[in-house]
Amino acid sequence: MEMIYLDYNGTAPLRPQVRGFVESYQHIAGNASSVHALGRKARSVVENARENVAALANALPENMVFNSGATEANNTVIRFFAGKKIYASAIEHPSVLEAGITGTIPVTRDGVVDLAALEKILQDEKPALVSVMYVNNETGVIQPIEEIVKRCRAHDAKIHCDAVQAAGRIPLDIKKIGVDYLTLSAHKIGGLQGAGALIIGMCRETPLLLNGGGQEKRRRAGTENVFAIGAFGVAAEAAKQGIEDFQKIAGLRDRLEAGLKDIAPSIIIHGINAPRVANTSFFSLPNISSETQLIAMDLARLCVSNGSACSSGTVKSSYVLEAMGCSKDVASSALRVSLGWESTEEDIEKFLAAYAKFAQRIAA
Ligand code: PMP
Repeated sequence: MEMIYLDYNGTAPLRPQVRGFVESYQHIAGNASSVHALGRKARSVVENARENVAALANALPENMVFNSGATEANNTVIRFFAGKKIYASAIEHPSVLEAGITGTIPVTRDGVVDLAALEKILQDEKPALVSVMYVNNETGVIQPIEEIVKRCRAHDAKIHCDAVQAAGRIPLDIKKIGVDYLTLSAHKIGGLQGAGALIIGMCRETPLLLNGGGQEKRRRAGTENVFAIGAFGVAAEAAKQGIEDFQKIAGLRDRLEAGLKDIAPSIIIHGINAPRVANTSFFSLPNISSETQLIAMDLARLCVSNGSACSSGTVKSSYVLEAMGCSKDVASSALRVSLGWESTEEDIEKFLAAYAKFAQRIAA
């Protein structure tokens, strides 16, 4: 039986265009800093990618710093503000929450940053930096980033936005949202794992994490991962072209959620009253642990997630759902289905059939 991949927010499959790039790559063996012909070829791969990734976020190519991924980009920004007050939303990725922040900004039951609470923190604490993601990776909820930026500006706080789950899913325009720093990751848009970017927005100051060679105009030391950066560029170009088609995935997501409600009316769909990206459904089947659900789906050859699998592969309760005010029971009985460009109606029907069988079995 073939596997069905429904975990695009965890990592997305390579875009077909990226597969083509990967196959052709063996002819480019140079270090992008070398002056010989192969070095120059590698350099052109990196610079071409810079144009394409910048275009995805409507940024200037010269403001893009390539690195090893979103974890590095997030750490780079947070650590740059060490010693100052840093507030991040309570639903940020651990690469923000665990990088040395001062405190968290609460979210509502729908998983949206609580603007009144943010306002109070801005007034009382006067943070130097506020970090709010554009789209949450577990719920798919889109944050009111322009409104957040407006409030931060009024209090002279710099603003960092982790846009990993927004890129390729909704139109992304760094000039319009006006943030100071923006984080991207290649593997969430169909590129390779191990490449990402930090885009310097309104703020002209470039944070630095790694010292060493003069790569990336002295903004990030270390030999460029030309292979993954090149693939990032190809994926970004395809993601930008595919943004309208991506919205059609909401039809599949809605069919999935209607089917789930038919199977078990007690299912809670998270963030359903907030604006969400088209591809993500995060739901809880109360009293049935995420682990039990994940294992049942895995046995049926369905790749889904509980939303917050940690690196050791253990299944934990969702801190995002806890921050949204869900009980421990609801937060530890969640499953995330995240779809993408290769998802089909048949995938949804197969998932629903397997889930119905599972629900019947546990009810028996
Ligand atoms: N931020 C968000 C919102 C994410 O979903 C992820 C990946 N789970 C990351 C950051 C980390 O990305 P990377 O794997 O590129 O380090």
